[in-house]
Amino acid sequence: MTAILGGGISGLSAAHYALENPKLAPLVILEASNRVGGWIRSIKQPDGTIFETGPRVIRANSHDLLNLIEELNLSSKVIPIKINHPAAKNRYIYTDNVLHCLPNSLKGIITRNTLLNRSLSSLLWNDFKATKVHKDDESIYSFVQRRFGKDVSEKMVAPILCGICGGDIHQLSAKSFMTNIFETEQKYGSVFMGLVQKKFSNILNIKKEKETKLGNTNKTQKVVKSNNTSLHLVERARKEKWSVWGLEGGFEKLPQTLAENITKRGVNIKMKHNCERITFNKNYVELIVNGNVEKYSHVISSLPAKNLANLIQKQHPELSKELYSIPTVTIAVVNLQFSENVLPIDAFGVLIPPKEEIPILGIIFDTCALPQNSKMTVLTVMMGGAWFEKYFGKCSSEEHLKMVAVKYTNQLLSINEDPKTYNVSILKDCIPQYIIGHAERLTRIHDYISAHKIPLALCGSSYHGVGVSHVILSAKEAVSNINQCMI
Ligand SMILES: Cc1cc2nc3c(=O)[nH]c(=O)nc-3n(C[C@H](O)[C@H](O)[C@H](O)COP(=O)(O)OP(=O)(O)OC[C@H]3O[C@@H](n4cnc5c(N)ncnc54)[C@H](O)[C@@H]3O)c2cc1C
Repeated sequence: MTAILGGGISGLSAAHYALENPKLAPLVILEASNRVGGWIRSIKQPDGTIFETGPRVIRANSHDLLNLIEELNLSSKVIPIKINHPAAKNRYIYTDNVLHCLPNSLKGIITRNTLLNRSLSSLLWNDFKATKVHKDDESIYSFVQRRFGKDVSEKMVAPILCGICGGDIHQLSAKSFMTNIFETEQKYGSVFMGLVQKKFSNILNIKKEKETKLGNTNKTQKVVKSNNTSLHLVERARKEKWSVWGLEGGFEKLPQTLAENITKRGVNIKMKHNCERITFNKNYVELIVNGNVEKYSHVISSLPAKNLANLIQKQHPELSKELYSIPTVTIAVVNLQFSENVLPIDAFGVLIPPKEEIPILGIIFDTCALPQNSKMTVLTVMMGGAWFEKYFGKCSSEEHLKMVAVKYTNQLLSINEDPKTYNVSILKDCIPQYIIGHAERLTRIHDYISAHKIPLALCGSSYHGVGVSHVILSAKEAVSNINQCMI
């Protein structure tokens, strides 16, 4: 009997993948709150308008997630946003009192842009000149300014990271957040030269693979039909050039449908079941749930690392300390609905570099990407993150947060109208921060678990990626790790 802790998208996905192994059955999900979905939440207004307080769009290269969408019969609800759509092409950064569009074409890359006052292609030269410095890890700020310049770090990369995780690039780890680029520099001495070499060897490998496959097919004289059914959405996304996609009716449809699906397949989802302590014994795991003892053979935890740290603190203080050291930030999300199209530009949204000292992280133009009703506009203002304490520590009433959101939509986008409706959510500790040394910490955590033969697998946003598609992949891998323990 396996306990899955947490009924957010990673816990639900872990159950979905664990259903493939009968040895893990029966499966029980323990969820502390009275709903599934965790940070994924779509609030329906009385007029049918949807306010997303968490994720709304997902990148098109999220293959496991697109396959899951198909398995759940949600394909018809997918709203693709193709690469030439304004919400895919236009991303703005507000600095020095001006909105700057990030370069989005070849011409934009080779000509001088207003944000940096130089062309993006000039970064090639910076990267070429920069000397390689051997590092196990370093801050994103340090890495980017060393290779491309301080302006790129402060004006371009800092706001992008605010948009991804509300984090401060002086603390975030280059190795964990820009793994490919960081490792490319460490291996080849230059990011661009390394990427070119990698691309070239990939092309050669693909060519070799194709030749080997062709040889094998000729040998067996068999034409093997490819099973494309499960790849259908993935193929569509590629052929139709999707950039990102959303879900009709709100993103919460995904965890809700997944919960219904796995319940029908035998998973017992227990809501309002707060796991308070875990003790690993020789042949079983003892959980204290709402004050009662429950026994399981394995545990898959999808809880934020800090929450899990509390549960195992007594028995495994060393592991608990490592888990506790993965910090989180709090984000205030203010959804604003206006009765008309009030946006001066069509775009995904605008991000603000922290150096501007403006108390918002960015504004998402929801209805540009996912229109709900042709006349009205929905915007989401994100605030706080690594700077929550600085700007709102002592004054975080809903009224104040709404006032700040309205003030800055007015200042940045010249929207003078008052919103028709709004919603304020304070998402406490909602996004883990992969700070310098995160990758080494994960290695220590995994080594500890395997050295002590603890029947515990970890998934969720605290470890290998903060996005929805990352946590679904982490759930798939957690189940595969538990399977390996059982061999
Ligand atoms: C504002 C915001 C915007 C985002 N936007 C995007 C986006 O556009 N695209 C994208 O890909 N990702 C986005 N994300 C990230 C995405 O939402 C997360 O990666 C994902 O929801 C994490 O899911 P999870 O299941 O791992 O964790 P959670 O959603 O945190 O779920 C964990 C669950 O565990 C439960 N729990 C906690 N403690 C206990 C306990 N002791 N016992 C039992 N249950 C417990 C909680 O109640 C919760 O339901 C966004 C996140 C936020 C906060």
